[in-house]
Amino acid sequence: MRVVAVLAVLGRGLIPADTPFIKSDDLGLTRGDGVFESIHVRAGRPWLLDEHLARMSASAATLDLTLPPLRELAAQACSAWPGDREGVLKLVLTRGSESLGTPTAYATVNPVPAASIAARDNGIKINTLSLGVPVEARKDAPWLLAGAKTLSYAINMATQRYAMAKGADDALWVSTDGFALEGPTSSLVWRSGSSLATVPAAATGILPGITARFALDNASSMGLQATERMITVEELHAVDAVWLLSSIRGIAPIKSIDGVPLRDFAADTARLRAMLGF
Ligand code: PLP
Repeated sequence: MRVVAVLAVLGRGLIPADTPFIKSDDLGLTRGDGVFESIHVRAGRPWLLDEHLARMSASAATLDLTLPPLRELAAQACSAWPGDREGVLKLVLTRGSESLGTPTAYATVNPVPAASIAARDNGIKINTLSLGVPVEARKDAPWLLAGAKTLSYAINMATQRYAMAKGADDALWVSTDGFALEGPTSSLVWRSGSSLATVPAAATGILPGITARFALDNASSMGLQATERMITVEELHAVDAVWLLSSIRGIAPIKSIDGVPLRDFAADTARLRAMLGF
């Protein structure tokens, strides 16, 4: 039988992927109260698993949740996925059923969406959309859960739908004071001269992207220096190359911002793609 999806539940192990197992009063469902990670599966293994588990643990701590050990669960899920096919490993931890009071943890593996694969080759058009806060608003407001990858992604998804309804492929959030932040599911990375740059996470409250971190940590392999700095949308139009990076789509070269085409930077994209292995 062709494997199309995998489900492994903490404490139960692998079960048929279409098994209903979440209770209707699970706080992950009713309040988006929980955390998750999406991890690229390549050659049958989760890529950068340590980094994802570390971020998930930090996200959980931000919500006063304790991450149970999930390494074994991740391995179990990946063992049921064909080794020659790239996939999406999702690890989910919720506060759990309101009546039972015990957290819910599970892992799934699913195919990488066709649109994600197409974006690597074809690039994307993005629209800038306001996040509605100044760049430093979330820094001193821990209740806004800056930098945590929580299950409350309704705003992220609405942002993408809004951009798509206007004819773009994705969105880039900007602060009310004009700085580029991140995509709703991706990090902004650009080359400017000899710098490979991204937006600083701690100073802005964006999610610290693992793919962007990997790219910057390996910038020297492209003969570049890693830089973290703020950038305005106006400045972005003038950089040498610009991408949205994320674990599953990998690398999405930006073709235009708010309908204004960018210069061609296919050679940079090919080098960054090779470095990231997408
Ligand atoms: N920013 C947000 C809001 C995200 O949801 C994601 C990924 O899902 C990213 C950035 C990119 O992070 P990563 O490279 O760790 O996937």
